[in-house]
Amino acid sequence: MKVQLLDLHAQYENIMSEIKEEMDKVFANHNYILGNQVKDFENTMQDYLEVNHAIACASGTDALVLALRALQVGPGDEVITTPFTFFATAGSIARVGAVPVFVDVDEDTFNINPDLIEAAITDKTKAIIPVHLFGQPAEMDKIMEIAKRHHLKVIEDNAQGIGSKYAGKYSGSIGDIGTLSFFPSKNLGCMGDGGMCITQDEQLGKDLVQLRKHGENPQYFHKWVGYNSRLDTLQAAVLNVKIKYLEGWSDGRRKNAKLYYEKLADIKEIKLPVIHEKATTVYNQFTLQAERRDELMAFLKENQIGCAIYYPKPLHIQECFENLGYKEGDLPIAEKLAKKAVSIPIYTELPEEHQLFVIEKIREFYNK
Ligand SMILES: *Cc1c(COP(=O)(O)O)cnc(C)c1O
Repeated sequence: MKVQLLDLHAQYENIMSEIKEEMDKVFANHNYILGNQVKDFENTMQDYLEVNHAIACASGTDALVLALRALQVGPGDEVITTPFTFFATAGSIARVGAVPVFVDVDEDTFNINPDLIEAAITDKTKAIIPVHLFGQPAEMDKIMEIAKRHHLKVIEDNAQGIGSKYAGKYSGSIGDIGTLSFFPSKNLGCMGDGGMCITQDEQLGKDLVQLRKHGENPQYFHKWVGYNSRLDTLQAAVLNVKIKYLEGWSDGRRKNAKLYYEKLADIKEIKLPVIHEKATTVYNQFTLQAERRDELMAFLKENQIGCAIYYPKPLHIQECFENLGYKEGDLPIAEKLAKKAVSIPIYTELPEEHQLFVIEKIREFYNK
């Protein structure tokens, strides 16, 4: 038996014919850039996530860059974020010329620890980027309260958390701008790169529309230098099909999670994901904190079970950020989690016998 960490084949099997039909409609009129399907998808997302504006773009990384630019973050500004995330979160801050300032995470949730944010605020701080890691929203009530008090902007990096909620509100809809990624391995993935900004603010919505197309308004007139960052019409056609299934897929992930909680809870050497009482999660990953993590992973791999480390090296000690002056030991929780985290298969279509095999092998490892 070979257990995959994620099986896109299984996800596409039942919907491929529907997707091909929608793609054929794009081929019928060759409207490849910002065709109707993009607008349709943006409208669907506005309704789904209860926001006024949804602006599709070329990737989740670009969505972060566009959001920072729309909020006028640039050289000389500092942006507070988490060191325990995919690189793009901090990479985008650096790319607009601003400085990432890293704040350690909460040991239970892997998300930025809001109680440590205020100590990191300086007169250069312009924004906070919380990340809703592995599908669980960060503590947005505390973060918004701090941001209001210090007049800071908030960008929610919701690449992994589409459809999750914090205190009854969709993640991504709470801060000034929320960003999404449709990278194939996200819960709503397209067949290539794709991303989106969402916002309640009309002016930000307009600015984002301009920024994704060279900052032009009207055509060939440029108030500022923007980007070429659009979601392909073909990718929108794919997403218009897949969005209909997303809630069902999230339920499937939660159902799989439930089985892990039932069957692994008694193993002292592993800590299962802790979900904050105000949060719902969509389990983009199911991430354990494991004793003897590397040995466990070797054992799982011997048994053909897919697993992965998200993330093996926190961002504050990445080579490209050496100039920021962080050293090992500065953010101990993130550093500890990088040594303990291991994600195991959680995708919706995971066959139950595969999941039971994963459970059996984890138990076997710790009983040895
Ligand atoms: C995937 C991801 C991104 C970047 O998205 P892309 O579409 O791959 O550019 C940004 N932030 C986080 C937390 C992610 O997981």
